[in-house]
Amino acid sequence: MTADKREDDSEASLRPLSLADFTGQAAARANLQVFINAARTRGDALDHVLFVGPPGLGKTTLAQIVARELGVSFRSTSGPVIAKAGDLAAQLTNLEERDVLFIDEIHRLNPAVEEILYPAMEDYQLDLIIGEGPAARSVKIDLPKFTLVGATTRAGLLTTPLRDRFGIPIRLQFYTVEELQGIVARGARVLGVPMSDDGANEIARRSRGTPRIAGRLLRRVRDFAIVDGDAIVTRKVADKALGLLDVDAIGLDQMDRRYLTTVAINFGGGPVGIETIAASLSEPRDAIEEIIEPFLLQQGFIQRTPRGRLLTPHAFRHLGMPEPSREGA
Ligand code: ADP
Repeated sequence: MTADKREDDSEASLRPLSLADFTGQAAARANLQVFINAARTRGDALDHVLFVGPPGLGKTTLAQIVARELGVSFRSTSGPVIAKAGDLAAQLTNLEERDVLFIDEIHRLNPAVEEILYPAMEDYQLDLIIGEGPAARSVKIDLPKFTLVGATTRAGLLTTPLRDRFGIPIRLQFYTVEELQGIVARGARVLGVPMSDDGANEIARRSRGTPRIAGRLLRRVRDFAIVDGDAIVTRKVADKALGLLDVDAIGLDQMDRRYLTTVAINFGGGPVGIETIAASLSEPRDAIEEIIEPFLLQQGFIQRTPRGRLLTPHAFRHLGMPEPSREGA
């Protein structure tokens, strides 16, 4: 489990438990509701679901809600944890009819494991090779009809045969400030933190469109408010705490700003290749593509071009830097 997920679970009461309680992602919720109702009416397993989107947008939460709404058990694992085909076989054979098996970071499954997932998803069959050499033989085991729910931050890294086996692909979007404000206000009530509407709005505006970040900032702001003896979290209280946490006025954190200033200063605003950026920041390319760039793209700070990443005029304005002239670029 990642540190992020541990923090989510330390105050798990913030996690919504039903589709009705889940704020935002209206299109995804509406689709899921229809398919869940249909599966329930037919008494059948729900088709396999793939959630795609940046970290912290609610993929795991929705997977749990799907199981709950179907009235079945929820089993959870993740791509990097399943080392051998046998590990996955054990998980699959332990499922009951219509159960949900959740595989987080499914793009990181090893290919040998992925192979046995294909017939499992398609025909609810396990094809296993027992033994080695001339004595090896293949056995087929029938599996219960189950629902695989996969989550990935990077749909592009999924192999085509795997992606094609998900009947219900769902892409999650960054949340609006209004949605996040609702999530923060609800979280504050659950944690017993007195908060004004403008306090919740300030945290929401600076949460990078992401409920996980909203939850984290809410807890940190609460901590500052307690230490400062503030009876109620207002915009002013939130603003002071978020300033100390180095979250800027529109929610960019230190890492986002390092990315932008590096491209602006070291590479004249780009275009510059992702590998070069990764080397300059001493950060893994994956983390940059999964965590930093999606929000910067969505906010219009950067563009992806065939020749690399390009800072937009909007980014230069935000950094308070003059835009380089691009003549001859
Ligand atoms: P992911 O699996 O996409 O990384 P999670 O489902 O683990 O994200 O969600 C991260 C955190 O954000 C959890 O604490 C969860 O409770 C919270 N969260 C996610 N989506 C929502 C939402 N729509 N409303 C309220 N809280 C949410």
